[in-house]
Amino acid sequence: MYQYKGLEDTIAAIATPAGQGGIGIVRISGQQAVTVADAIVELTSGKKLAECKSYTVHYGRVLKKNETIDEVLVTLMRSPKSYTTEDVIEISCHAGPAVVRAVLDAVLTAGARLAEPGEFTKRAFLHGRMDLSQAEAVMDMVRAKTENFLRVANHQLKGELSDELKSIREELLELYTMTEALINFPEDGVEAQSRRQILTRIRIPQERILRLLASSKSGRILKEGIRIVLCGRPNVGKSSLLNGLLKQQRAIVTDIAGTTRDVLEESVQMKGIPIQLVDTAGIFVPRDLIEEEALKRSHLYINSADVVLLVLDYSSPQQEADTRLMEKLKGRCVLVVVNKMDLSHQLDISGPIEIFGREHVIEVSALAAESLRALEGKIVEIVGRDKNFDTHGILISNIRHIKALERAREGLQGACRLMDENTSLEFISEEIKGAVNQLDAITGLNIDEDLLDRIFSQFCIGK
Ligand code: GDP
Repeated sequence: MYQYKGLEDTIAAIATPAGQGGIGIVRISGQQAVTVADAIVELTSGKKLAECKSYTVHYGRVLKKNETIDEVLVTLMRSPKSYTTEDVIEISCHAGPAVVRAVLDAVLTAGARLAEPGEFTKRAFLHGRMDLSQAEAVMDMVRAKTENFLRVANHQLKGELSDELKSIREELLELYTMTEALINFPEDGVEAQSRRQILTRIRIPQERILRLLASSKSGRILKEGIRIVLCGRPNVGKSSLLNGLLKQQRAIVTDIAGTTRDVLEESVQMKGIPIQLVDTAGIFVPRDLIEEEALKRSHLYINSADVVLLVLDYSSPQQEADTRLMEKLKGRCVLVVVNKMDLSHQLDISGPIEIFGREHVIEVSALAAESLRALEGKIVEIVGRDKNFDTHGILISNIRHIKALERAREGLQGACRLMDENTSLEFISEEIKGAVNQLDAITGLNIDEDLLDRIFSQFCIGK
């Protein structure tokens, strides 16, 4: 399939994060992995790794010019049952920058070359141990910030997406074969009936692709999170609400207007959804250059928000700044948080209700725990609207996959349209083949080598 240069090399890299810690691991993979390790490690048993069985761990010392670098444990995994399907050696040493580097240097001096980012996983893919969507799931797992997304990545790693794509591909290939047969062996009188049959059957893979695409809304959110920006006049209670939602005292709360002069960002999880909460400087008339800059940044953050929490003060009548903000936010995904409901109600909330709708206006008190819980519930409701966060099935979260699926969907839509227009079957077969190619790009069955290199270059070294 792929004629990759360098696959015959034995590669090595530090597989654990930099810095001090309990254990650091240097990983070696390739035909010479065992020979390289035997050249630098002296096992206490007196044996050579070359004589040892697969899946065994050995105690010994890494030597450099007869001098001990570290005491180590060496794990031996022989081809083909290893991560890369090649011979793999993992040397576990003490985790300090000098130790791990010295062990790696010894390995490189003994004949291995430094691995490129993601090269271990790339080899697993190139040797057919996993497809490209599974290899990408490895990266997702390493980067997952929440348990929910970890579950999504795990499903993909297990091959659930690959199986679904394979099955859709089969359906499409059957349709392709039917179309090609009609083109090559036309029979009088049957074409119209066969065309109808193809058109009916094309709906099935089309539906399945649409379902995958629909899951991407939640998949993206679980992977990337949602940015929620709090905005409003100074002193309406933005920082108090942020603190309440974070359940910790992060922002400075005072009753002097304009205390939050810059932007504060914090990460939280609400019902397993990763959320970036941003508290902006209050919207006000700037008194100096710093405040002017803070105000500019507030507007930038408001513009980049997925959801805006517009905070209003129940205890004071609507002011010019509130009105201007509401105007600015028309048409955006807004939750109006009418704060200080424990004080006297001076604000007429019919205005915001009219603009944003009743279900987008909530009355709270930042000082009351049950209010904050209700606010959190409302946020989850708004973020989760039209989405399914059930992480027990396939959730598409990778932009590359989404784009390929969109192209496949467009191709099939095109095929249906051409069918309706009674266009020549050659064009229809071309569209179906195009859709198959898009699915193959996801699994890596048909993908440009440069793109493949680019995908793996985003991995970390040692993975
Ligand atoms: P910000 O400038 O919008 O961030 O406002 P702060 O969070 O700093 O709050 C301004 C003042 O209002 C502080 O004295 C808070 O204790 C007070 N405050 C905030 N929320 C409430 C609330 O729900 N009820 C009452 N009574 N006071 C509040």
